[in-house]
Amino acid sequence: MSAFDNALRQLSRAQAVFPFEESFIEKLKTPNHIHEKNVMIDRDDGSKMDIEVYRVQHNNARGPYKGGIRFHQQTDLQEVKALALWMAIKTAVVNIPMGGGKGGATVDPKTLSKTELERLSRAWVRAFVDEIGPQKDVPAPDVNTTPQIMDWMTDEYQKLTGDKTGATFTGKSVAHGGSLGRDRATALGGWFVFETLAQRLGLLGSIKVVIQGFGNAGATAAKIWSEHGHKIIAVSDSRGGIVNEGGLDIKAVEAWKEKTGKAEGFPGSRAVSNEALLELPCDLLIPAALENQILEHNALQIGAKVILELANGPTSPEADDILFDRGIAVIPDILANAGGVTVSTFEWEQNLKGEKWSVEDVESRLKKIMTEQAEDVYRLSQEFGTDLRRAAFVLALRRINEAIK
Ligand code: NAD
Repeated sequence: MSAFDNALRQLSRAQAVFPFEESFIEKLKTPNHIHEKNVMIDRDDGSKMDIEVYRVQHNNARGPYKGGIRFHQQTDLQEVKALALWMAIKTAVVNIPMGGGKGGATVDPKTLSKTELERLSRAWVRAFVDEIGPQKDVPAPDVNTTPQIMDWMTDEYQKLTGDKTGATFTGKSVAHGGSLGRDRATALGGWFVFETLAQRLGLLGSIKVVIQGFGNAGATAAKIWSEHGHKIIAVSDSRGGIVNEGGLDIKAVEAWKEKTGKAEGFPGSRAVSNEALLELPCDLLIPAALENQILEHNALQIGAKVILELANGPTSPEADDILFDRGIAVIPDILANAGGVTVSTFEWEQNLKGEKWSVEDVESRLKKIMTEQAEDVYRLSQEFGTDLRRAAFVLALRRINEAIK
């Protein structure tokens, strides 16, 4: 099943909990616009490279389309469509004035030099310049896209349109109009949701945490949870994972990864495959890599008491059912990782108003939103006797339906 099939089934599963009109659910199954193009970039050696690029605009009933741009060799239109649909749901779950979209390029950025990456970033903007803009569609970073890439994109957009607000892209570097606090917003938002729900989900005191993915979301989460006295017993990246049941020193793991390019081989740890890492006994499992990781075939082996999804779409609907039956709560992506888009929206607002908010201001606004919406999702899950994902979908769909009406 593709990520998009999973997203469509999640919509139907929400409808089984709350009887939304069929026409409304049908409308949400199709994106408003799909933009798919090929761009040609010059390689440093003088050759040309043809790259497929995408922007999917799912729904804008609640505000401009909003969502990241992913550069990955496995990214394709189906994946971008799924991510765009989830963005529309996510912005509604946290009740920010945005719709949902997503972008991408099918490319392994590790094979590009810095200048080639810059050419690709600028070419992406030239391909979609007429489709984006502060009141139309506001992209942001996702897997393998960085503040530097957002700065190049903003610069290209300004050259092409004369726009001076800088509000077309979020996730920019702070020196070029980015918001303080954006770098850790996704993981911190997940932390606020965790703090709100942990006790109700049976997690008390210092807990054992396993994290899949050690990039922006995963590594930052590792730092935040360990700063709060929790033990990170395993982490992984695309090359594999490391375990130390006594707890990993996260700053030292970061320094090791910086030096060697991977987590593997970290002194005092043993190696674990990415598959086995998901099955380690722990209190909290945080998938923070890619989609489709917890599936029907491994859901029975998951060793965690609670899962908090910082990645988008890591759990399939079949796995959701198995985990629900096993009493393992899944705090869904559309709530757990919504801190990123929330602070992105703060960035957009600051750019449009010409303001600079302090990191304390950003984080206290984020905390308020994440705490309130986590409460709402939990309350609905109790009211409908369902899992947190279906509850979050129902909350979001009600808000989108209201906006359409
Ligand atoms: P990133 O590129 O910074 O990090 C991804 C990490 O996952 C890297 O460490 C990579 O090595 C690792 N990885 C890749 N494949 C893996 C595999 N099979 N097993 C284990 N690790 C693997 O990306 P990111 O921004 O941290 O995004 C990670 C996830 O979080 C994505 O699903 C993304 O959509 C989601 N997300 C990110 C943000 C954000 O603000 N960064 C916001 C919302 C959601």
